[in-house]
Amino acid sequence: MTKKTTTVEATTTYKLNVEEVRKDFPILHRQVNGKPLVYFDNGATSQKPQQVIDVINRYYQHENSNIHRGIHTLSQEATDAYEKARTTVQQFINAQHNHEVIFTSGTTGSINLVASSFGKKHIQAGDEIIISTMEHHSNIVPWQMLCEEKGAILKVIPINEKGELLLDEFKKLLSPKTKLVAVTHVSNTLGTINPVKEIIQLVRQHNSTLDGNVGGNIPPSGGQRGAVILIDGAQAVPHTKVDVQALDCDFYAFSAHKMFGPTGVGILYGKEAILNELPPYQGGGDMIKTVTFEKTTYNELPHKFEAGTPNIVGGIGLAAAIDYMNHIGIANIEAYEHELLNYATHKIKKIEGVRIIGEAANKASVLSFLVDGTHPSDIGMIIDKLGIAIRTGHHCTEPLMNRFNIPGTARASFAFYNTKEEIDTFILALERALKMLK
Ligand code: PLP
Repeated sequence: MTKKTTTVEATTTYKLNVEEVRKDFPILHRQVNGKPLVYFDNGATSQKPQQVIDVINRYYQHENSNIHRGIHTLSQEATDAYEKARTTVQQFINAQHNHEVIFTSGTTGSINLVASSFGKKHIQAGDEIIISTMEHHSNIVPWQMLCEEKGAILKVIPINEKGELLLDEFKKLLSPKTKLVAVTHVSNTLGTINPVKEIIQLVRQHNSTLDGNVGGNIPPSGGQRGAVILIDGAQAVPHTKVDVQALDCDFYAFSAHKMFGPTGVGILYGKEAILNELPPYQGGGDMIKTVTFEKTTYNELPHKFEAGTPNIVGGIGLAAAIDYMNHIGIANIEAYEHELLNYATHKIKKIEGVRIIGEAANKASVLSFLVDGTHPSDIGMIIDKLGIAIRTGHHCTEPLMNRFNIPGTARASFAFYNTKEEIDTFILALERALKMLK
């Protein structure tokens, strides 16, 4: 691969020197199977810049201590760093309050928290939960489990051949029994960027038609409760600016590891009023105010939902990743990745027999494809020998694969540290693999 500096300047709106950026990511300079690594599996997890790695090292070398409980200096420093990280997340997603930011183990943890806590309090037999055809298993299975437990009904928004949600069909699914709508902001398999703002507005309008409800989810006095909205932001936050107040969602879930931070930590954003009325998710230390054998009272937000010693360094590492993204500029990231996607799409379409799965008008940097007469995993295995990491399989979206009547896809997903030269290398490797396979 040529070591050429690629400075991309687009119509004066952004500037991203990708070779400079790549210097921050040590792993990008290793070899795999004797070839320079081309990492196109960013949808599964992203790589970490030195700045994040340093913060994690420094924490264990200088600050390590348990939080919220110690009077000593180390504990106070760790607590300060962790709570500062919460504020960094709050500002990043523009939440109104920092106690609306709950640290979890990741998107999966966040969705399970809502399914358990909201489900326990508000879902009854016959109630309806709406998801979409393109959800990740982690935004399907928790709702299925809840429906099974409570006798509730799961409804699914269909999509078209391009991989776009059918909003007219969605409107028809909304009913007075709809208690929750959970959709992904960006599809990990198709790359579709869903019109989540429009979806949320449709739910708000629907809620306002319910008896005694004024469009929110919590009726002012005795009216009917409307549906709440959870957005799975796992694939959106790494690529685009998210403003939870502008969206007006009730819950927003995402994972640190997909946005250049550590694994095992993520966020559940929830509106204060809704979080306040929900029961705790798990019991243990930190989530209590007082405990006696007769009765326990619960802590306030956000601690009510954070039982036990959390992933302290994970939270601090996530804040470092956010600082890094802010330093690069989210608008720069978005514009550059869009350019990479267009470049790769254009190139791959020239290969005979290629079928792109997911051709929505509005897409993030995910390129899923199939090639006539070949199996995606064979392609993945051959190009791995050439140092190229892509994903193959159902991408934890089996119902979506069934919708397209395919067993899986090959998926290249790009981050802002990828280059057009890497895409050229990938296309050449793909052509070589296809020659071997046909
Ligand atoms: N939702 C989407 C859209 C995803 O792509 C993923 C992971 O690939 C998840 C949820 C689950 O994220 P995690 O495994 O970090 O909890």
